[in-house]
Amino acid sequence: MRQYAVNEIFYSLQGEGVRAGTPNFFLRFAGCNLSCKQETHGFDCDTEFISSRKMTLDEISDELAVLSRECKWIVLSGGEPGLQIDGELIAGLHGLGYRLAVETNGSITLPEGLDWITVSPKVAEHAIRQTTANEVKYVRGYGQGIPRTVVEAEHYVISPAFEGENLPKRTLEWCIRLVKENPAWRLSVQQHKIWSIR
Ligand code: SF4
Repeated sequence: MRQYAVNEIFYSLQGEGVRAGTPNFFLRFAGCNLSCKQETHGFDCDTEFISSRKMTLDEISDELAVLSRECKWIVLSGGEPGLQIDGELIAGLHGLGYRLAVETNGSITLPEGLDWITVSPKVAEHAIRQTTANEVKYVRGYGQGIPRTVVEAEHYVISPAFEGENLPKRTLEWCIRLVKENPAWRLSVQQHKIWSIR
């Protein structure tokens, strides 16, 4: 049976995007194909995705069952989950009754069968490969304009950039103004940081 490189598994609330406030398992895969830095991306990656455990699907499902027997949504994230998600994982978790949301940087085409796709692009528009999604989410700092995205989505989301655990007031006000001037978009603040949860 295939083994997946898993960084961590935990149970919490989704803090951002259209599904904010809902309970989910978070299955974070190790590894990423990008290395986001202030100079190239406008922010430094603050996600630890190096450490990992090799886990089979059975081992993953056993760990989920210990955390909750009620929750049926799993958020697949990373690092970049598109490096590891395959048909076997999707079919196996669906077979156990789970629904699968994914958060991807958009640079890899995802396999079919996922139930909710969030693309949060970290590459130039011409390098985006996952061009359809349920929601597309761009982090915006003070002074950055509204994106011209190639991603076709049901929901277009602007997420104001935090500095560490703090959201600068002028960044929030800037993003509110962006959304008011571009009503196809909506604001989503990283509420898990405000709620002090992961
Ligand atoms: S794509 Fe995400 S996880 Fe990967 S380096 Fe960039 S911010 Fe970090």
